[in-house]
This record gives sequence, C-alpha cells and structure tokens, in this order.
Amino acid sequence: MSGNRDEFALIEWIRRRARISDRVPLGIGDDAAVVHFPRRADCLVAVDVLMEGVHFRSPPATPRDVGRKALAVNLSDIAAMAGRPLAAVVGVVLPRGRGDGFAEELHEGLRLLAEEFHVVLAGGDTNAWDGPLVLSVTVLGETTERGPVTRRGAQVGDWILATGTFGGSLAGKHLTFRPRVEEALELHALARLHALIDVSDGLAADVRHIAEESGVGVVLDAQAIPLSDAARECRDGRSPLEHALSDGEDFELLAAVAPEDAARLLAEWRFETPLTRIGEIVPAGTWALRDAAGGLAPLPGTGWRHTW
Ligand code: ADP
Ligand code: MG
Repeated sequence: MSGNRDEFALIEWIRRRARISDRVPLGIGDDAAVVHFPRRADCLVAVDVLMEGVHFRSPPATPRDVGRKALAVNLSDIAAMAGRPLAAVVGVVLPRGRGDGFAEELHEGLRLLAEEFHVVLAGGDTNAWDGPLVLSVTVLGETTERGPVTRRGAQVGDWILATGTFGGSLAGKHLTFRPRVEEALELHALARLHALIDVSDGLAADVRHIAEESGVGVVLDAQAIPLSDAARECRDGRSPLEHALSDGEDFELLAAVAPEDAARLLAEWRFETPLTRIGEIVPAGTWALRDAAGGLAPLPGTGWRHTW
C-alpha cells in the first residue's frame, strides 16, 4: 500500500475510494458536505472519540481494527435509537512515524464497515502530531417512520431483552463486534419498544441507565444472562457472570418491552444473534440480581467511566 505522508495526498486517496450516493450529493472535497434526508425524517447524531492507550492499544489492534471500531461504536449508538445510519465524518490525529500505509489502513477499516452498512463517508479532518492516535467519528442517521427509541419509557412489568452474549470483550469483541443496526430496526418494526440502549459501559451499568432515565427499577435473572465464550474463558478469579455484568464494550442491545410483545419477539426472532429475556422492570428503588432460588442481591458492576 502506498504511503500518503501528507494531508492532501491522503485526502485525495480517500476521496477516490469514497462511495457515491444521492444521500450525500456533495461529499469529500468541499468545505462542508451536503447530506440529503429524503423523508424529512429527524436526524440522529452521535459522536465518539477513541484514544490510543485508553480505548485500544496498537498493537495488538491494527490500524484497520481501530478505524473500524471508531465507526462501529457510532453505528451502535444509532442502532440504540432504533435509527438508520446514513453518513459519517471522521476527525483523525495521526501519530508521526508509524510507517507507510498506517493512515490508509485506518481509513480502510472505516470504509469497509461503512460499505457494509451503506453509510457514506461524507468528510473529515486530518491532522498529525508526535502523540498517540486519536480519532473521532460522527455519524448522522435518520429515525424510522416509528420515531426514535430512547432510554426513557421503560414501564414496570416490561421484560428486558438482550441481543447476543456478554463479557470478556477485551479478548477481541471490543474490536470485531458487529453493530446491531439490523436487529434494532427489526425489533422496532415488530413491536413497541419502551426503551432501548446499547451496552458500552457494561450490562449492569447500562441497564441502570434505562432504569434511571425511566424512573423505574430492574431485576436481572443471573441464570438468564447469556455469557460469552470469552467471559467463560477469563481466568482472573472473577466469575463469568461478573465479567458479563461489568466488562463493557459488548455493544449488544437492551430493550424494555411489554411482556406480550416481548414474548412475541422472542418467538419470531429470526437473526443469528440470539435474543434473550434477561430480567424485568420493577418499581423504582430495586436494582437487583435474582438467583435460581429467587433470592435478590444488589446488582454488582458499576461499569467503566472516565475520571479526571
Ligand atoms: P478545510 O480546511 O476546508 O476544513 P480540509 O483540508 O480539512 O478542508 O478537508 C478537505 C476535504 O477533505 C473536506 O471535504 C473534508 O471533509 C475532507 N477530509 C479531510 N480529512 C478527511 C478524512 N480523514 N476522511 C475523509 N474526508 C476527509
Ligand atoms: Mg478541515
């Protein structure tokens, strides 16, 4: 792969590979991009910043992994609103001295995932310094005809449904996860979702976000939480369940849905990614884990948070 070692050569290289779409009548190459929203739907906007040393280490993460992840986390946020991602812009601060092809590989990771989800890379900003890699992607999406689904709206009695499995994402899934965009759209099309969130901070922490925003409580069934192989294989003294509750970066979805709708969703689910009932919404004040015998213990796991 060629080494475009200056900003304009790189931008030209990216531009040549950019997808053409009537959704973005003006993309890379002007002062701002034009994004066309055909249905006059509401625009969903999400941004995330990834910093080398905090969100990934490279190695083992390749520049391609990192570019992919920077877009994937934002697609996951659009999924968590039950929306469709349309376009993305990326801000990159490249570290000097990483060798030929580093910047291209980074953009290639981004481009390939964008193609997979029919998202147009509409623009960006390219910088370089003697520090670590930092990149930020902003995704624009549209709500469906049924509007967005927020964290607020869970009702007492709702079942909590989860896609996929939890825990041990550091073993690889935090880089390779597939954002649950299609799954969210399907859930939203089939049933009235009361609340929806993606699990970035950790299952326990993110289910709490739904509870707090909705003014309700939560009981999770310890037996029901789907454990990932990676969580089972962790050999650090913490149980697979603890990993599943607190590791974070699973990028799975949690939905609060009325029991009749939830039962129907479970029965009709046609995706490879499993859909599981992991608990229920209860009145405010309870935030608990239920064991097989029905005993309640406080839900552990505070999840990851940045501090300064
Ligand atoms: P300006 O100085 O007007 O901000 P730039 O030189 O920063 O313009 O960018 C030129 C064009 O290239 C813009 O359309 C911008 O969106 C696009 N661009 C810059 N960096 C990237 C990138 N890393 N990925 C995609 N598009 C980029
Ligand atoms: Mg610029």
